[in-house]
Amino acid sequence: MSNHAKVAVIGSGPAGLTAAIYLARASLQPVVFSGAEPGGQLTTTTEVGNFPGFKEDITGPELMVNMRQQAERFGTQFVDEVVEAVNFSGKPFTIKTKSQEVSSDSVIIATGASAKWLGLASEQRLRGKGVSACATCDGYFFKEKEVAVVGGGDAAIEEATFLTKFATKVYVMVRKDELRASQIMQDRANSDPKIEFLYNSEVVEVLGDNSVAGLKIKNNKSGEEKELGVQGLFVAIGHKPNTEFLGDQLELTKNYIKTTDNTKTSVAGVFTAGDVHDWRYKQAITAAGFGCMAALDAMKYLEQEKK
Ligand SMILES: Cc1cc2nc3c(=O)[nH]c(=O)nc-3n(C[C@H](O)[C@H](O)[C@H](O)COP(=O)(O)OP(=O)(O)OC[C@H]3O[C@@H](n4cnc5c(N)ncnc54)[C@H](O)[C@@H]3O)c2cc1C
Repeated sequence: MSNHAKVAVIGSGPAGLTAAIYLARASLQPVVFSGAEPGGQLTTTTEVGNFPGFKEDITGPELMVNMRQQAERFGTQFVDEVVEAVNFSGKPFTIKTKSQEVSSDSVIIATGASAKWLGLASEQRLRGKGVSACATCDGYFFKEKEVAVVGGGDAAIEEATFLTKFATKVYVMVRKDELRASQIMQDRANSDPKIEFLYNSEVVEVLGDNSVAGLKIKNNKSGEEKELGVQGLFVAIGHKPNTEFLGDQLELTKNYIKTTDNTKTSVAGVFTAGDVHDWRYKQAITAAGFGCMAALDAMKYLEQEKK
């Protein structure tokens, strides 16, 4: 592989791979750095039922292998390594992994974001088996069931409200004795008979062998422990965008990449796509859509720069 690329894509989730497909089909031979999770977050789930184009559910890993093969078919080159540092202070830009340095005329950053978890062994064991960090993705599986949401911010209330479409009861467990969510969200949730708030509450253990059979919860004021009979747990305590490797090379907002005009970052020629900048929608299809936009914007930039 040459160590210069016209476009380098950092990240191989739906955003990065969609960008690569568009760039490769434009004969730009992109180089994709796959990172520690080739295929991205969807490789950690089973059925994906909301990505258009599949009459039957497709599994996350299968969908991502298909996307990678499609990108490869048109000439994308993959570097299965983690990017440790970038230098966007001069041109060409440089991208460093443990074993090599690649220069490139333009860069698309699509490194995603990771959900924050409570950090319980039982929670991790039951991820995808009743424990989730995405109501939009998994709410559908909880029709006529009881679920709990952990978190006290807007995102938690949004998840809880969405889950009332399916679940018969939604407990919202809040660590403090009040919510952080905006008043309007609180009012909406308070008037929903399916939602019940449990303040000063923490999950001690997720119960069940192969699926969630309940929660052991603790009142952090009284110390009292009890069991809550729910079949699902949604953890909504925030996401961490994967931007640490950028150092101070780009402007960030709350650690998400700051954008203007959809995909442009604070450095001309560096674009972004997907969950690493999109704190709002966080879906595979929106990430793929942003990947397409970033690729088209990068092509336009290269044309203007006559690269
Ligand atoms: C369990 C689970 C189930 C989900 N189910 C659905 C669903 O059913 N439908 C749906 O639409 N969405 C679902 N989502 C959300 C969806 O997966 C994300 O919105 C989507 O994957 C975001 O795509 P992305 O390309 O922006 O980032 P990601 O998929 O997070 O990919 C990020 C990529 O960047 C790479 N990377 C990170 N840091 C570096 C680095 N330093 N160097 C190189 N590479 C790096 C990673 O290795 C990875 O390849 C689910 C998420 C989870 C966790």
